[in-house]
Amino acid sequence: MTLHGTATKAMLLRVGHYRRRLAAARFPGVVVLCYHAVRPDAAPAGSYPFEQLHVRASELAAHCELIAGCCTPISLPALRHAVAHGSPLPARPVLFTFDDGYRSVATLAAPILERHGVPAAFFVCSGSIAGRRLLWYDAMARRGAEADVDRVKRAPFEEWQRADAGSLTPVDDDDPLAPMTPGDLRSLAVRPLFEIGAHTVSHPILARAGVADQREQIVDCVRALERWTGRPVTSFAYPNGQPGVDYSPDTIAVVREAGIDIAFSTRTGFAGRGAAALEQPRFMMLAGISQSELAHRLAYSWRRLADAQTPTAIERGA
Ligand SMILES: [Zn+2]
Repeated sequence: MTLHGTATKAMLLRVGHYRRRLAAARFPGVVVLCYHAVRPDAAPAGSYPFEQLHVRASELAAHCELIAGCCTPISLPALRHAVAHGSPLPARPVLFTFDDGYRSVATLAAPILERHGVPAAFFVCSGSIAGRRLLWYDAMARRGAEADVDRVKRAPFEEWQRADAGSLTPVDDDDPLAPMTPGDLRSLAVRPLFEIGAHTVSHPILARAGVADQREQIVDCVRALERWTGRPVTSFAYPNGQPGVDYSPDTIAVVREAGIDIAFSTRTGFAGRGAAALEQPRFMMLAGISQSELAHRLAYSWRRLADAQTPTAIERGA
């Protein structure tokens, strides 16, 4: 984006343009935002691996303020009910989700969400929580091998298993990359705005694994989260999340067998009844998205994208 574009968007936000445009809009589905972790504003730039995945606390607060003011934050149960039963949703529904189970989501994001009355769903990996260790890609990055992560993701499952087993890195609870504790999970699960969902035991690329390994990764995660939270776990997010690349039709079958009734990919698009219950699309949220940039995406970019994806008459069989 050009500097000019950034300045123009900030001006359009300041003069109330986006607010007025959004007030008259009806979204073609639910905007599900996909975050990962949150970092304190004071954290120096360059101190996190995959830093774009750690949005600043002030950025998240600005997103919450915009959406609570111009759209309607909804809960995962509301989306689930709409997908299963067609129950009506507000004109501009937005659901916040956070993948991976970083502790910063419990310590930094949850208070911001609650202050703005914004519901959220947290999709959590159980292995790093149980073992008090870094997720495998953060462990590789901390060893200076960040550049190898993409290659390992694309490698055969056995090679990923060896890399995962070879990168077991214990982590303190106050480390910025620490996973949630079982206590954090319990505390989030009892709060009315929040739901805990599964994200596998240790974040493999499921499409690379055989069905038995996929089942173990999915079912063991669900059971561990249920044990820690004392609640049924019936939602899921696919690690990495690209359909056909990171998960397969076999994965979807295993997810269904595990008792999951709603699952999320990282395909870009609007969620809701227009998508399969076990393949709900989302919009990726990275560090550096200002309030005006998010307003622009909500008012223009994402909806243009949805228009472009509307099936033609031929595709609809008309
Ligand atoms: Zn993930």
